[in-house]
Amino acid sequence: MTAKLIKGTEIRDEILKELKVEVDKIKEEHGVVPGLVTILVGEDPASISYVTSKIRTAQNLGYKEIQDNQSVEIKEEELLSLIDKYNKDDSIHGILVQLPLPKHIDEKKILNAIDPDKDVDGFHPVNVGRLMIGGGEVKFLPCTPAGIQELIVRSGMEIEGAEVVVVGRSNIVGKPIANILLQKAKGANATVTVAHTRTKDLAFHCKRADILVVAAGVPGLVKPEWIKPGACVIDVGVNRVGEKISEKTGKKIAILKGDVDFDEAKEIAGYITPVPGGVGPMTITMLMRNTLRSLKFHLGIA
Ligand code: NAD
Repeated sequence: MTAKLIKGTEIRDEILKELKVEVDKIKEEHGVVPGLVTILVGEDPASISYVTSKIRTAQNLGYKEIQDNQSVEIKEEELLSLIDKYNKDDSIHGILVQLPLPKHIDEKKILNAIDPDKDVDGFHPVNVGRLMIGGGEVKFLPCTPAGIQELIVRSGMEIEGAEVVVVGRSNIVGKPIANILLQKAKGANATVTVAHTRTKDLAFHCKRADILVVAAGVPGLVKPEWIKPGACVIDVGVNRVGEKISEKTGKKIAILKGDVDFDEAKEIAGYITPVPGGVGPMTITMLMRNTLRSLKFHLGIA
């Protein structure tokens, strides 16, 4: 059996098109566009690259985009007052502080200072709590898990009543995706198990999964024989396992592998995400969706 490939790049393009239609309509009817500020402290190359992709995507959608670059020397109080400024700015609907921050700054303090109603990353304790409560309380879903849900829904895999096994319990992926899929809501209503480093028999749990979400960061952790025939396998892991020369640019690039052995797993699974090109492209897409959602809340049309 060869699994249906869940192509994150195609689903990303589909969603971005849908968002653009909504943005244009809101602009026409209300005369406003979503506003997103990305605060970058220092010059970490990986952070610059992430921020650049976010900015490019926001600009392509017609968002108001502010890139606020700050020196690595910035003091914690200065960063807090910058956040306060954007919290009070009605033209800004999403505030994003690129992590990691320099050691002298308390990341938690900074992230918690963001107005939860502008926390488009969905990591503020208020938004984590809203997700736990569910229903109408939910404002922003964290981006990578929200992207995973979209991938499953748009692949056509039935989530309602499915046995979902999530491998990994991080606050960024494992816990929130488990929470999202067990909601009493469309695209959810699953029976969810969360496995982690202290799980006694990981193979046993994986074998039961109709939908297996693996977010451990361990290349090849899930063995092909642990996959239930026909299951939907979402491989969130991004592991650098070496380097190669890019055919396109001639430059050195990382060889990336997921937490699942793709070549063997695709012969057993019913649906599977590739790495790269599966979950990866969804994170920024969901950030854009959250920022638009924030504007819609602001306008009272969400
Ligand atoms: P993390 O290190 O914070 O958490 C990993 C989790 O996996 C932990 O809860 C741990 O208990 C569990 N785990 C680790 N080894 C295990 C094992 N042998 N058996 C069972 N459980 C095990 O990582 P994270 O931030 O959740 O990220 C996980 C992976 O997803 C990483 O490879 C990361 O790069 C990737 N990721 C990708 C995206 C994206 O594509 N957009 C976003 C976030 C994370």
